[in-house]
Amino acid sequence: MNSTNTDIKIFGSGRLPFANAPRKLVGALSNRDENEVNSVNDALSEAIVEARNVSKWYGGFQALKEINLTVRRGERVVICGPSGSGKSTLIRCFNRLEAHQSGDIAVTGIRLHNKMRNVAEVRKNVGMVCQHFNLFPHMTVLMNCMAAPMWIKGVPEAKARKLALKFLERVRIPEQANKYPIQLSGGQQQRVAIARSLCMEPAVMLFDEPTSALDPEMVAEVLETMTSLAREGMTMVCVTHEMGFARSVADRVIFMDAGQIVEEGAPGDFFTHPQHERTKLFSSQILSH
Ligand code: ADP
Repeated sequence: MNSTNTDIKIFGSGRLPFANAPRKLVGALSNRDENEVNSVNDALSEAIVEARNVSKWYGGFQALKEINLTVRRGERVVICGPSGSGKSTLIRCFNRLEAHQSGDIAVTGIRLHNKMRNVAEVRKNVGMVCQHFNLFPHMTVLMNCMAAPMWIKGVPEAKARKLALKFLERVRIPEQANKYPIQLSGGQQQRVAIARSLCMEPAVMLFDEPTSALDPEMVAEVLETMTSLAREGMTMVCVTHEMGFARSVADRVIFMDAGQIVEEGAPGDFFTHPQHERTKLFSSQILSH
């Protein structure tokens, strides 16, 4: 396995992953092997995702403008805002599905940048659940969950099966293990997608509007699954319009508009005393539905 040492960067001052690290420990990282580096990162780093002055353009259009965001271990962050404001683009940058062009992003202490050799290393630590479940249609639910640990992490089959069953149990559909995705409802398929991500035992789960393609009666079961994950301490960044979920689960709500973070706060403050005019408008529109 390639070493990720060259992809680990110590940012300067501020709230970045190694901000509180003793200098001599940080300096010692370059000669360590990957496992050691990861465990040192865990010990030193509170920040799981760190974005500083991140900008992204699609051609001439600037989709992200100087974004600064830190997500700490165990934190539940909800990102909301009008369609086209850059929410998806931002979280897709966190696992390099999109590349930012300026600023810095580090995930679990590993810096994402253009010359990065080891995007797969970062993706092992970042689970992502999207609007569309993207399950492999020709594989059973169980195999869908076993595939990534076996193929990407080299987990032996018996252990991968155990993991898959554990997480199918956790999303409360172990009885569906031997079915194919097409035999499941949308809500069940989304829960399989969540279980599949959990099987990689990621440091952070990214949710990109996970309920927006679901029939209304299936939204609750997926939100319930996400809520239970949050209660168990999973670090989560969720793009969602489900404000009930945001109120009950989020530590912090972030409001984006036109590629910028306009406002952020604890859900209580955010919903009852929005500061910015655009946030007030958005809150009044979304909460009146
Ligand atoms: P949101 O998730 O808030 O709805 P997105 O992050 O999907 O917003 O999109 C932000 C902006 O970037 C939108 O104006 C969108 O049209 C544009 N955009 C997103 N993806 C692409 C792309 N692949 N190519 C060009 N423009 C894009």
